[in-house]
Amino acid sequence: MLYDHILIRYGELSLKGKNRKKFIYQLHENVRTKLNHFPAVKIHNARDRMTIMLNGQEPTPIIEACQSIFGIQSLSLAIKVENDQEKIKAAALEALKDNQASSTFKITTRRADKSFPIGSQEFNHVVGSHLLRNTDNYKVDVHHPDVELHIDIRTQATYITSKKIKGAGGLPVGSAGKTLLLLSGGIDSPVAGYLMMRRGVKLEAVHFHSPPYTSEAAKQKVLDLTKHLTYYGNQIKVHIVPFTALQQKIHREIPHGYSMTVMRRMMLKISEKIAEKENILSLTTGESLGQVASQTMQSMHTINETTAYPILRPLVSMDKEAIIRISKDIHTYDISIRPHEDCCTVFVPKAPKTKPKLDKVKYFEGLMDMGDDIEQIMRNLETITLTQASNNNDFDALF
Ligand code: ATP
Ligand code: MG
Repeated sequence: MLYDHILIRYGELSLKGKNRKKFIYQLHENVRTKLNHFPAVKIHNARDRMTIMLNGQEPTPIIEACQSIFGIQSLSLAIKVENDQEKIKAAALEALKDNQASSTFKITTRRADKSFPIGSQEFNHVVGSHLLRNTDNYKVDVHHPDVELHIDIRTQATYITSKKIKGAGGLPVGSAGKTLLLLSGGIDSPVAGYLMMRRGVKLEAVHFHSPPYTSEAAKQKVLDLTKHLTYYGNQIKVHIVPFTALQQKIHREIPHGYSMTVMRRMMLKISEKIAEKENILSLTTGESLGQVASQTMQSMHTINETTAYPILRPLVSMDKEAIIRISKDIHTYDISIRPHEDCCTVFVPKAPKTKPKLDKVKYFEGLMDMGDDIEQIMRNLETITLTQASNNNDFDALF
């Protein structure tokens, strides 16, 4: 095999000092976990990039797996050779010939090893002439080459790469703390979770379940969605909240126009308690401004008031089409559209207030004591840990 290494370039190069160390450490962990079913490969970090030694392993599935890891800006297949002119020239020729259907090239040498006897400019010419002499139909084009060969001469060895493959960008999951995602079976909340992970945040999820109004299949849908999200974020814990009794009580005791608002406030209260227990410092929802009655500015204000925790809403300004596009890209869409009821829709009143007044909500809440119900819910949480889906085949198995 021509290529024996994969080079990984980091994203967010502006990160400095301690953050950078943490970033690299976390990325290394995430790459290691993702590639643990390729035992032959070895991973090495350097300050400015990571290398994966393939040790005979076929590169395509490894590149594919790495493309789902946040914090990677780009990847390239690389040939590693000693810092020896003849060996570099020979490897560069192999790499060029590997690019079929191309006719122009450019060489860019970077000489980090200053003991290498030839300067980068001059070495570009040396290698370039070698390539022209040993091929028939190639020309040099320094402005718009079909192939750009990079020769990176480092102290230990030289790496030769040609194509750059786009990485997932973002920050390594786990480098920016943890959030508790309120995960329904809908289209939006899995996308919200994906976007938070892209920003380096590790997920736990909470799902409110109201059997027998909501079915086992609805719960399974949420577990399947979570399993998909693990492909990007390693293992994810899901807390299933038995919500039926409290929902029935709210439905019975709160005037219908306000029951939805109170129910949402209780969802946040319970989520906050779970977050506290799990040492998590924020909640995340799939809310998007103006979508439904609970997502008007006034509703958000009234619902939000029940918790002091930051509520992150990565979709708040996005159009539904854009959200759907992402859900299709990350393969959660087909699961999200399975027809199962959510607890929020089962009990939704005919005309929920779109501008629920905070003082009224607090007054109605004050008439009923929900402390015991919440405590009982906390005692009866079901927590399921889903391990990382190793590849897209794992996804197919879920359908
Ligand atoms: P989604 O597609 O995520 O369900 P939506 O547009 O249907 O969102 P709502 O159903 O009003 O909107 O829910 C708003 C947000 O509340 C969801 O994005 C999710 O974060 C949270 N949520 C709703 N239902 C549940 C549930 N059963 N368990 C956990 N969180 C929920
Ligand atoms: Mg929903």
